[in-house]
Amino acid sequence: MAANEHLLDAQAAAERAELDTQILDAIDRWVEKEVRPIAREYDQADRYPEELVEQMKELGLFGATIGTEYGGLGLSAGTYAKVVARICEVWMAPTGIFNSHLIMANCVERAGTADQKAHYLPRFATGELRGGIGLTEPNAGTDLQAIRTVAQREGDDYVINGTKTWISNGIKGNCLAVLTKTDPTAEPPHRGMSMFLCEKGPGFTVGKKLEKLGYRSIDSAELVFQDYRVSKDKLIGEVEGQGFKQAAGGLELGRINVAARGVGMARGTLALALAYAKERKTFGKPIAKHQAIQLKLADMSTRAEAAALLVQDAADRFDSGQRCDLEAGRAKLFASEAALENSTEAMRIFGGYSYSTEYEIERFYRDAPLMCIGEGTNEIQRIIIAKQLVERS
Ligand SMILES: Cc1cc2nc3c(=O)[nH]c(=O)nc-3n(C[C@H](O)[C@H](O)[C@H](O)COP(=O)(O)OP(=O)(O)OC[C@H]3O[C@@H](n4cnc5c(N)ncnc54)[C@H](O)[C@@H]3O)c2cc1C
Repeated sequence: MAANEHLLDAQAAAERAELDTQILDAIDRWVEKEVRPIAREYDQADRYPEELVEQMKELGLFGATIGTEYGGLGLSAGTYAKVVARICEVWMAPTGIFNSHLIMANCVERAGTADQKAHYLPRFATGELRGGIGLTEPNAGTDLQAIRTVAQREGDDYVINGTKTWISNGIKGNCLAVLTKTDPTAEPPHRGMSMFLCEKGPGFTVGKKLEKLGYRSIDSAELVFQDYRVSKDKLIGEVEGQGFKQAAGGLELGRINVAARGVGMARGTLALALAYAKERKTFGKPIAKHQAIQLKLADMSTRAEAAALLVQDAADRFDSGQRCDLEAGRAKLFASEAALENSTEAMRIFGGYSYSTEYEIERFYRDAPLMCIGEGTNEIQRIIIAKQLVERS
């Protein structure tokens, strides 16, 4: 490589780093000004944060990881993870509005046809079309090959019938990447699975809104497809049998994202606990001066920062274009457990006040368990990690 090419590369990297810093600063300002003041009230009322959606559009979050050629911000997975973590330090739920949306976009960007990319990605990036991914069904979550939703070819169309459940953005979103079976008799079943881009319309309806322990304010829904007709050019990649692979590929970014949420929550609970421990006094001194509390704070801080390093490791590998299910699995497993453990330890530090809805900490305690379930449960992460260890050794 010529010397001037090295210089140009270095210049481009410096410009990119400067842009990433500006984006993270803008996120910090937005979180403090707009997200923190409404988090407790909106969560408790289970109110959808419409105004945050408009602000997210302006910030470009619906196109965060979409390439700049399609109008996105083109963030690396590393920077994207930092964005997610910073929001989750304060309130995890709003990240759900763009996280699964970006997994849908990632599936199109990686596996879509040129026409699909040209048509969808700019609309995803602005948030004109937004939604998420529809994989889970009432009878099948972990075991995705057991799904029952069928897409049957009829002329130039497919007709989709089935029910999806637990779908984030299922009510407020208008577009969903839906995993189906185009050949329900295929063996192994994943060979007969295909993913479609489905926009809301006749035959695609909301069955019901699901009420939840945490992750409130964000719509989770059961969705019903009844003779929903979609043209064949909405089949991602326009080749049948690729859906399972496309979904699994999208979940690598999804796992980095859930891990980043875990980092944010692990840090957020530490920040709340630390502030409280410095202020609350027992036996004549702040509880932060009691060694039993100090041990908790030390462990919480160590867990949060170890999780951040695992997320960075997974994001670096993702950004280098390599398979990263081992790294993303490790990050997701550790960071989600860190969020859960830190929220529990913070509850202990807050004592009786942890039980009060006047404090923020109880929200973290209700939100954290989801990190251990979404994008593949932590039991499954362990299986993925072990398989990869064996395969790569
Ligand atoms: C708030 C929320 C939002 C969600 N958003 C979405 C979304 O946007 N889109 C979407 O498609 N889905 C979504 N989901 C669904 C989520 O991905 C599933 O709940 C998750 O994959 C687990 O599936 P399941 O609930 O069917 O559990 P199951 O698969 O029934 O698992 C039950 C238990 O068995 C364990 N288990 C299963 N198989 C094995 C095995 N082989 N070995 C060891 N243990 C095993 C699991 O780890 C778990 O502990 C969401 C869920 C929630 C709660």
